[in-house]
Amino acid sequence: MPDQTVEDQQAIEWENLCQRCGLCCFEKALDGKGRIIETQIPCRHLDIHTRECRVYEHRQQIEYDCIKLTPEKVAKLKWLPESCAYRQK
Ligand code: SF4
Repeated sequence: MPDQTVEDQQAIEWENLCQRCGLCCFEKALDGKGRIIETQIPCRHLDIHTRECRVYEHRQQIEYDCIKLTPEKVAKLKWLPESCAYRQK
């Protein structure tokens, strides 16, 4: 197995921040004023019992609007729950 690069380690550390709560994996909708609102409808790939994505490794290829979280995106995404580990960082 090849040695991990610093970038590989940082990517793993970033992934490991996620607490697998699944709260970000519920469908969003826009209200009449263009504001994003949470729904109670889970993404079709979310296992609601384990709270894990069933297609995690390929989610961006399977669901065009699934967002890969990065520090830059986390700073901008207002709909991430306040309890999200990435927002807490
Ligand atoms: S809300 Fe945050 S901690 Fe919870 S699953 Fe989504 S990214 Fe992970």
